[in-house]
Amino acid sequence: MQEENRKLVYTIKELCRVCYTCVRECPAKAIRIINGQAEVIAERCIGCGNCVKVCSQDAKVYLQTRMEVRDLLQSEDKVAALVAPSFPAEFSEIDDYRKFVGMLRQLGFSYVFEVAFGADLVARRYKELLEDRSGKGYISSDCPAIVTYIRYYHPDLTEYLAPVVSPMIAISRVVRKKLGNGVKLVFIGPCIAKKAETDEVDEALTFRELRGMLEYAGVTPEAATPSEFDLPRAGRGAIFPVSRGLIQTVRVNEDLVEGNVTVAEGRMGFQEAIKEWEIGNLKGQNLELLCCDGCIMGPGMSPGGKRFERKTQISRYARQKLSELEHDEWLYSMNEFRDIDVSRSFQRDDRRMPIPSDDQINRVLASMGKFSPRDQLNCGACGYETCVEHAIAIIDGLAEVEMCLPYAIEELHISVDNLAISNEKLAKMQQALKQSEKLAHMGQLSAGIAHELNNPLGVVLMYSNILMDECKPDDPLRKDLELIATQAERCKKIVGGLLNFARKNQVKVERVDIRKLAAESVTSVVIPKTISTQVVCKANNTEAYLDYEQMMQVLTNLNKNAVDAMPNGGVLTVEVDENESDVIFRVSDTGTGIPEENMDKLFTPFFTTKGTGKGTGLGLATTYGIVKMHSGKIEVDSNTDPAKGPTGTTFTIVLPRKPTLG
Ligand code: ADP
Ligand code: MG
Repeated sequence: MQEENRKLVYTIKELCRVCYTCVRECPAKAIRIINGQAEVIAERCIGCGNCVKVCSQDAKVYLQTRMEVRDLLQSEDKVAALVAPSFPAEFSEIDDYRKFVGMLRQLGFSYVFEVAFGADLVARRYKELLEDRSGKGYISSDCPAIVTYIRYYHPDLTEYLAPVVSPMIAISRVVRKKLGNGVKLVFIGPCIAKKAETDEVDEALTFRELRGMLEYAGVTPEAATPSEFDLPRAGRGAIFPVSRGLIQTVRVNEDLVEGNVTVAEGRMGFQEAIKEWEIGNLKGQNLELLCCDGCIMGPGMSPGGKRFERKTQISRYARQKLSELEHDEWLYSMNEFRDIDVSRSFQRDDRRMPIPSDDQINRVLASMGKFSPRDQLNCGACGYETCVEHAIAIIDGLAEVEMCLPYAIEELHISVDNLAISNEKLAKMQQALKQSEKLAHMGQLSAGIAHELNNPLGVVLMYSNILMDECKPDDPLRKDLELIATQAERCKKIVGGLLNFARKNQVKVERVDIRKLAAESVTSVVIPKTISTQVVCKANNTEAYLDYEQMMQVLTNLNKNAVDAMPNGGVLTVEVDENESDVIFRVSDTGTGIPEENMDKLFTPFFTTKGTGKGTGLGLATTYGIVKMHSGKIEVDSNTDPAKGPTGTTFTIVLPRKPTLG
C-alpha cells in the first residue's frame, strides 16, 4: 500500500449526470468539472468518500483492492485480518461475532485481530495527552481523512495534530511484534482513506468489498465454524467507532474531559470546528474530529444503513464483549504491548490554492452575468455555497461558468429566442424556394409559348411591312396594315419579355460603372414634377461586370414602378452599394407599398394591378429573369401601413461583381 496520492476515488463518466452534488459535498474541493464531467483530482482528494456516498447515480467509485487481497490469500504468506470495531454495524445479520471471525478464517485469513485493541493502546496515549494540562489543545488524529485535510488545507494546524498513530497502525505494530515481519496485514473497515494511510499495512479493504469476497467465495454464517479473535483481546476500544468513541475509550475523569473536548463530526461539523478553532473560539479545547458521522457511517459500509440502529449494534456488541472480558487478561495484554511505540509526527503539506484578486473574481462574475452583489443569488445550485466561491473555483480551473443555474437558464432563453429566429428564417427561405420553383415552372411554359409564337409573329410582322411598302400612301388599307404591324411589334416585345423571364436570352457581360448605370436609369424615365429623385453611391468600388442593356432595363422597370406607386408625389432613391463579393442596387420609393397578399405574385408574368392598357405585368417578371441570368437575387421590402412607419417599397438586387455565368 502506497502512502500518498494513491487515486482513491474515480468517476465513471458514463454514469455522471452532472448534478454537482459531489462538488457540494467535497470538503476538499477536489472535484473538477470539465466539459460537463465531474473528475476527482487525486492531489486534492482526502479520501473521505463523501462523494461516493452522495452520488445517486453510483458514478463515483473507490479504489477496489479485492484482487490484491485475493492474491495475498492465495500466496504462501500468512495473512492477518485487522478488523475495525465497526464490523457489527455492517454485518448485523450475523448474530454472533464468532461466526464472523470463522467466516474470515474460512476465506483464507490465518489470523483475525481486533483493531479495537489498537484503539485501547492509542486511548492510553490520548489519556496521557489530555491529562497533561500544559494548555496546548490537540486535534485527534484517528481519522486519516481529517489528518490529510489539515495537512493540505490548514497546514498551520498540523502541529496540533495529536502525535499518535491510528488504532489500525497500533494493532499492525502489535501483530508484527507478535508474529514477526513476514506476516501480511489486511485492514478491513468502513473507510476509504485507510487505503492510503500507511505502508505498514499491506492492503485495506472496505466492509463492502469484504462482503463481495465472502459472497463470491460462498462463505455464509450458517456454514461457518465459530471462532474467537486472535489475542490480544480488546477492551473498551470496541466503542471507538461511534461518535465520542474516543472519549469513552479514554474514560478519564468525565467532567474534566467533557469540559475540554469538542467533538465535531460530518462534513459541515468538522469544518466549522476547525474554523472556530482557528479564530481562537476554542481556547484550551481538544478537538475530536471525524469526517463521517462516526466511522459507522463511513463510505466503505454498505449503503442504506441507519445511523442510530448501527450505534445500538456497536453498543450491544461492546457491552457483550466487556461483560465477557477477563479484565486481568486484558491488563496483562496492555502490559505485554506497553512498549509498542504509538507516537508519530505529521508534516504539513500545503495544497491551498492562491487566492485570486478581487479584480479577477469580478471579471469571472461578470462573465456569468453578475455585475453587482444583487446579481449574486448564492443559490448553491453549482455546488459552491456562494457565487464568489464558484468564481474562485473557475479561476482555479475547478469549475465552469455553465454550472451556474441562473446563467444557464438565461443562456437557454437566449438560445430559444435564437432558435425561434432561425426557425422564422427557415420558413422564409422555404417560402422563397417554393416561389422560385413556381417561377421556374412558369418560365418553362413561357419559354415554350414564346418560342412557338416568335416565328409566326416574325412572319406577320414581315408581311405586314411588305404589304405596307406595296401600298400607296393614300391607300385606305394602309392604316389597317400599320395597326397590324404595331400590334405585332407589341406582341414581339411581350415575347421578348417572356424570353427574358424564362432566362432564354444571352447575357453580354461588359465592364460597367454601376453608379453611372444607376444615374442613367433615372434620367431615362419620365418623372413627374411631384417626385424628386436621388442617386446615392455607398460603394467604394463602382466597377462591375454585367449586361449593360439588360440591367438598364431592370432599373428602368423598377423606377417606373416606383413612379407609378407615388401618384401624389414622393421620393425615388436609387442606391448602389457593395459587399465583399457583390454589388448591390436598391430602388426605393415612398409610395403606397405592396399589400402582403400580392407579395408572392409580383414576379409572375402578367401580374399587374394597373388598369388594362396601363400595365403589362411583365416588368418584374423580366427583371427577375435578368437578375437570375446574372446569378443574382432580388428581394422586396414594403410597407403599406402608415401606422407601422413610412409607407413605400424597396427592391434590393444583389449581383456578383463578376458573375460566373452558367
Ligand atoms: P406592371 O408595372 O406592368 O403592373 P410589374 O411586373 O412591373 O408590372 O409590376 C407588377 C405589380 O407589382 C404592379 O402592378 C404593382 O401592383 C406591383 N408593384 C411593383 N412595383 C411596385 C412598387 N414600387 N410599389 C407598389 N407596387 C408595386
Ligand atoms: Mg412595371
